[in-house]
Amino acid sequence: TDVSTLLLSRIRDVADYPEPGVMFKDITPLLADPVAFEALTGALAEIAVRTGATKIVGLEARGFILGAPVAVRAGLGFIPVRKAGKLPGATLSQTYDLEYGSAEIEVHAEDLDAGDRILVVDDVLATGGTAEASLQLVRRAGAEVSGVAVLMELGFLGGRSRLEPALGNAPLEALLQI
Ligand code: IMP
Repeated sequence: TDVSTLLLSRIRDVADYPEPGVMFKDITPLLADPVAFEALTGALAEIAVRTGATKIVGLEARGFILGAPVAVRAGLGFIPVRKAGKLPGATLSQTYDLEYGSAEIEVHAEDLDAGDRILVVDDVLATGGTAEASLQLVRRAGAEVSGVAVLMELGFLGGRSRLEPALGNAPLEALLQI
C-alpha cells in the first residue's frame, strides 16, 4: 500500500551495526518525517482499537517513542517495560536469553490490572525474545494480551514462531515484513 511504501522509504539500512554482519534497521529518518511518523502511529493506533486494547505497553527504548503517541491517539494509557534497574516502584521482572548471555526487563506491577487487554508495541521484531518476555510479564500480572504490533518484522530470524506460545490467540501484526 501507499503507507507501507512511505514507511519503508524512511527506514535506513546501516551495515555492520552494532556488530559485523548485522544490517541494522534505523527508524530515525521515519521519526524525523512528520507525515511518515503520523502514518505509522495512526496505523498502530488502528491495531490497538481493532484488537480491543485497554492499554499500550512500550518496550525500551524505541517502543517508548512509538508506543506513547499510539496510546494518546487511541485514547489509552501507556506502560513502559524497562531494562532492569530503572523503575523505582515494585516491579515484576522477566529474564530472557540472548545469543550471548541474557537480559532482564521489568514493569511496574501496579500499572497492569487483571481486566486489562495489552497491546505490546515496538519498532522491530527480530528473534522475538524481548516481545516474548514482555508477554510473559503481562500474563504474570494477570492481564490479557490483545496483540503485539511492530513496524517491522525481520522474518528470517523466526521471531513469529518463537512468540506463538506466548501470544495464544492474540495476533502479531507487522506493518512491514523484511
Ligand atoms: P529481539 O528481542 O531479538 O526480537 O530484538 C528486538 C529488540 O531489539 C527490539 O527492542 C528492537 O528495538 C531491537 N532491534 C533488533 N534489531 C533491530 C534493528 O535492526 N533495528 C532496530 N532495532 C532492532
